[in-house]
Amino acid sequence: MSTNKLGKQTNALHFGYDKDKQQTVSVPIYQTTAYAFDTSLQASNRFSLQELGNIYSRLTNPTCDVLEKRISVLEGGTASVVTASGSAALFYAVTNIAGSGDNVLVANKIYGGSTSLLFHTLKCFGIEAREFDIDDLSTLESKIDSKTKAIFFETLSNPQIAVADIEAIAAIAKKHKIISIADNTVASSYLCNPIAHGVDVVTHSLSKYASGQGSVLAGSITEREGLNELIKDNPRYAHFNEPDESYHGLVYTSLPLPNYTLRIRIALLRDIGASLSPFNAWLVLQGLETLAIRIKKHSKNALKIAKFLETHPKVESVSYPALESNKYYALSQKYFYKGRASGLVSFVYKGSLEEARKVVDSTSIFSIVVNIGDTKSLIVHPASTTHSQLSEAELKKVGILPNLIRLSVGIENIKDLKEDLKEALGE
Ligand SMILES: *Cc1c(COP(=O)(O)O)cnc(C)c1O
Repeated sequence: MSTNKLGKQTNALHFGYDKDKQQTVSVPIYQTTAYAFDTSLQASNRFSLQELGNIYSRLTNPTCDVLEKRISVLEGGTASVVTASGSAALFYAVTNIAGSGDNVLVANKIYGGSTSLLFHTLKCFGIEAREFDIDDLSTLESKIDSKTKAIFFETLSNPQIAVADIEAIAAIAKKHKIISIADNTVASSYLCNPIAHGVDVVTHSLSKYASGQGSVLAGSITEREGLNELIKDNPRYAHFNEPDESYHGLVYTSLPLPNYTLRIRIALLRDIGASLSPFNAWLVLQGLETLAIRIKKHSKNALKIAKFLETHPKVESVSYPALESNKYYALSQKYFYKGRASGLVSFVYKGSLEEARKVVDSTSIFSIVVNIGDTKSLIVHPASTTHSQLSEAELKKVGILPNLIRLSVGIENIKDLKEDLKEALGE
């Protein structure tokens, strides 16, 4: 298991890399497509998994391997696979366990790109996404049948800023022996560890807080220790228990390795290949080193901005889970380290859609960017950008009002940020 007694701040800098052997302080970038074998026997042993080791960088790479170990230790999981993007991570996490004729239960408040992947693209693969209300789990169980393969939700949702009752969802999944998958991108591995609350699989877009500088696309999938036992002889996951013809009859559950991520690597990465490049893995490793101090500063700045906005006459309402007035306050205090809630804040401007856009255009430190989790402060008007493809009724359903403005509060000087917003809001 990827664990030790050291704190996350220490592991984020040292875990999984033997610098005594390599003598380089920075993790090297293994910019290579493939690996040389000592003998042809070794080559054939690697292909048959009798010996674990590098074959080709679509499957494994030493730089990516260090990142996988660090994500595993920060999430308290047993094994991870890194991917070319967060979207690729979610695609693999779901298609690893669901195929044509199956269904997955999906929370209603999630990232827009994940909605289109799960509800539209996967439909073309014959996988049905069934929506459930993240704020009312009473109907969740009634949507489960024998073809349900996963329950997916975001711990802290982007952009609605809802906090999931992680333990309640994990308990329902456990009762029905279904794999639960949590996207932990916005909360980050520092504020929240879904596995500690009973979740089976954690996905990330490492493009956001994990890397932190808006300079890379990357994703990850982590499984908890003991997930093998849930998969073994479970009729929902028959393909893990039967011979895989594409791997000359390999039965995943017969191997003493983390089965779930193993199959993602040797079947899905092998065949689809959205692998993370070693250079991008290295960029994420640099970012992870400072995640602890960044997410603390993001959260502190965001709370101050949220409190400032709450008292502003031009602001109708503010959404930030660490505000005592917020409906997710109790859940944020229960699940997030020290009740911190990252840099994502949204507010409703007292004015029309056009006036809200004018506010966005009037800021100078906040950049107009659809990304989140950058060290720099970002601002966006969702109704005319990220959610512009939705109809008015759909916008209402997902909670995006025409005059809603979303902030990803950065780590700049708080006085400067407040001043910038004050001027943009007018009085
Ligand atoms: C950005 C994001 C994704 C997609 O990740 P990419 O790295 O952009 O592909 C998935 N989930 C959440 C919550 C995100 O914010």
